[in-house]
Amino acid sequence: MTDVGTTARKPLTPTQRLKLFERFSGVCQLCSRKIEAGEPWVDEHLRALSLGGGNEEANRAPVHKACADAKTYGPEGDLAKAAKAKRQKMAHLGIRSASKPIQGGQSLPGANPARRATKPLEKALPPRRGLFRSENA
Ligand SMILES: [Zn+2]
Repeated sequence: MTDVGTTARKPLTPTQRLKLFERFSGVCQLCSRKIEAGEPWVDEHLRALSLGGGNEEANRAPVHKACADAKTYGPEGDLAKAAKAKRQKMAHLGIRSASKPIQGGQSLPGANPARRATKPLEKALPPRRGLFRSENA
């Protein structure tokens, strides 16, 4: 198995790009729609490099730029999968991920709920002095 996240991206030459485009008859391999003249497209790694895919021709296909972005950055996209693969690899090797800071509004399990501004105070604060001009007069 190729090690996860170790293969460097290798750009195609213009000739290789044309060959790739023609090999797939200019059909986007993600949405199966034809890539029209002038539409931005990229040569996509069908299996992302970050998920162990390689630069070989068999792993590359023309796709719309927009489709590639969705594949890479979407909620089920390659970046999310790569992050999961990395977590799994670390867990497998017994490496703990850095503890996450507690998010605002969350509290530790078993802790008293955080006091909120909307929650009335249990005991009234002592009156404050000197805040208003009339009190100083
Ligand atoms: Zn597409």
